[in-house]
Amino acid sequence: MPISDSQISDWIRAFAAAVAENKKYLTELDSAIGDADHGINMSRGMQAVLAKLDARQAADIGDLLKTVGMTLVSTVGGAGGPLYGTLFLQMGTSAAGKPELSDDEWAAALAAGVAGVQRRGKAEPGDKTMIDALVPAVEAVKSALAEGSALDEALRRSAEAAREGMTATIPLVARKGRASYLGERSANHQDPGATSSWLLLQAAADTLAAKDSQQR
Ligand code: ADP
Ligand code: MG
Repeated sequence: MPISDSQISDWIRAFAAAVAENKKYLTELDSAIGDADHGINMSRGMQAVLAKLDARQAADIGDLLKTVGMTLVSTVGGAGGPLYGTLFLQMGTSAAGKPELSDDEWAAALAAGVAGVQRRGKAEPGDKTMIDALVPAVEAVKSALAEGSALDEALRRSAEAAREGMTATIPLVARKGRASYLGERSANHQDPGATSSWLLLQAAADTLAAKDSQQR
């Protein structure tokens, strides 16, 4: 059962809601190892995205995701916003012209987005960044689908892998981004970007395999 254009839009709205709800938490995490703006940045960016979605005419999923990416790139300063912008832009390129996405096309789009973040930010797993949540999420969705799992199960495992990746950033010493300036003092804090990335994958699990996909 394919993922529809309106489910992708629900996913983006659910992420915006989760970011708004966790704005203070994300900023607190960033105050420990950064400059206390991650929640503020992401929330400002996602509010701008919501305004764009409200004004948007129905088009294909690639177009929708590119709009999200361009809005984040143009409204959010710092490292996090442009990296999320790249994620959505690359997902949009992968989904170009598609009115709906098969399970495998979802996995491919997510993988393309995460590869774009890695090309742009040059972070590897273990560097204490959003990549620590995103890469395991891509691997989990791919392996679940390869084993024949249904989309809802694959999305659940993907979100769970992101959550584990997020938690695993706590003991790490940051090697990329602002937190890396702290050296050893960055250890024992959860990475803010990995936390927002978990929210993104949890929002996907909550929206993309929802009841309307089972009705079809
Ligand atoms: P800034 O660091 O410019 O204040 P944010 O606070 O919005 O930007 O985002 C910080 C998050 O960005 C970090 O927690 C980390 O997850 C992520 N990040 C920073 N640099 C990189 C990078 N090179 N690659 C991937 N993610 C990164
Ligand atoms: Mg910051």
